[in-house]
Amino acid sequence: MFSYRHAFHAGNHADVLKHTVLLAVLRHMAQKDAALTIFDTHAGAGLYRLDGDYAQTSAEAAEGFLKLVATKPKEPFAPLLQDYLDLVASFNKAGSHKVYPGSPFIIHRVIQERDRDKLKLFELHPTDTKTLTANIAQLEAGRQIAILREDGFEGIKKFLPPPSRRALLLCDPSYELKTDYGRVAEMVADSLVRFATGTYAVWYPIIPRPEAHDLPKKLKTLANKAGKSWLGATLTVKSSKLLQDDEGEVIRPGLPASGMFIINPPHTLKAGLQKALPQMVELLKQDANATFTLESGG
Ligand code: SAM
Repeated sequence: MFSYRHAFHAGNHADVLKHTVLLAVLRHMAQKDAALTIFDTHAGAGLYRLDGDYAQTSAEAAEGFLKLVATKPKEPFAPLLQDYLDLVASFNKAGSHKVYPGSPFIIHRVIQERDRDKLKLFELHPTDTKTLTANIAQLEAGRQIAILREDGFEGIKKFLPPPSRRALLLCDPSYELKTDYGRVAEMVADSLVRFATGTYAVWYPIIPRPEAHDLPKKLKTLANKAGKSWLGATLTVKSSKLLQDDEGEVIRPGLPASGMFIINPPHTLKAGLQKALPQMVELLKQDANATFTLESGG
């Protein structure tokens, strides 16, 4: 079974990028009254403690979300970042940062007053499914939220196109298996055939591995071939080069960068990220290689 547990990584710089973009996309889609369906093909446990054993082991949030709230930016926070920070703060007592919401809870917060919307969560890991189920039960969301202990790549097929005809799909695998990269591209290709007007948001790691390098290129090609607009945003916080300690031992740098690729993005997203991404770089940079990219097409 898989060993990836998001609890080790919750609130890291990749979550800052992913969740800021997710929230911005969803806020825009929720401006219209018409019903929405949101799919989270790799949901995780839903809610995380930043002071728990898992989080302490890697302390990744210290270089991500916790660093953002601890540092005063030169300028006020960009609106998209402020919205993300406010949303995370709403899960905590004033001034405390112990709880971090994963994508299911971020999504639910936006749609909770909209009974007509539906949220479908896929999670395959038995322990995470159990925790997710217990966490979601506290929301008393009834039939608005469904948890499926299924392979998200396959399970999504039966739901597309959704009756609502308006939908956002977040695809956020752990990429623990090399095959995940290919499966993401296949799922997006298949989904665009089934439901071309959906909004698709894919997170991916930027690491020195050919499959990772190729994925955003493949997604761009798929969007262009389908004649759909797209937006790609990346955040790099440090160099990906391997370092050596004083004894010559190789130090693994940890995740240096990640990206979000969105097909059929809201037209407001690029302008919002143009303000938010430089601030993420300023506040989360770990060395002189920190940077962002933002491109769009279609
Ligand atoms: N989306 C979550 C968030 O932002 O809070 C984090 C998800 S985490 C990066 C990826 C999750 O996918 C893990 O919990 C893992 O157990 C689960 N997983 C792995 N392979 C899967 C599959 N084929 N289908 C559904 N879930 C899977």
